[in-house]
Amino acid sequence: MSNELTVNDHIPIELRTEALEDLLVERGLVDRTVMDNFIKTYAQDVGPLNGAKVVAKAWTDPEFKERLLANGTTTVAELGFKGPQGEHIVVVENSDDLHNVIVCTLCSCYPWPLLGLPPSWYKDPVYRSRVVKEPRAVLAEMGLDLPDSQQVKVWDSSSEVRFFVLPQRPAGTEGMSEEDLVPLITRESMIGVALVAAP
Ligand code: FE
Repeated sequence: MSNELTVNDHIPIELRTEALEDLLVERGLVDRTVMDNFIKTYAQDVGPLNGAKVVAKAWTDPEFKERLLANGTTTVAELGFKGPQGEHIVVVENSDDLHNVIVCTLCSCYPWPLLGLPPSWYKDPVYRSRVVKEPRAVLAEMGLDLPDSQQVKVWDSSSEVRFFVLPQRPAGTEGMSEEDLVPLITRESMIGVALVAAP
């Protein structure tokens, strides 16, 4: 088994993926057109804007936020966000005392309906292994220096649970509407590798 893994490691991931797709198509388990459309939808149409809408609503609607933290999946579905890799969404809230960051140590589990497809660094084995062991150092390298007073929690997403970070609302946005807040909220802030910057 370990020999097989070593051999496969030398074959580029694109080729391995193509071979797997060919096999699935050949056996009639997937339809290539359906697959292409599926990828296009998540690569182009579903993106971090969905997550940003959830965050902006949570910042401006306390009852929505309460529901969101209690049951992520059903609450984001209120806004129409559901589908594959979104069946078990758990929302973790950042505060002055606690900063949350998300990873999938095993592969690349990610809340697709809220954030689209994951960025390439999220799938990188280096990020996946290091953020668990030394989150502060990894975050600092990504440009996020956290105060020692703030606890850092790393959440490992899986097929069972897809975590999503509710970032802190920045100071200076008190008078802003839900609609105006949306563009401030970045994908990185909802993974927990950045903060939402004040406008
Ligand atoms: Fe995964």
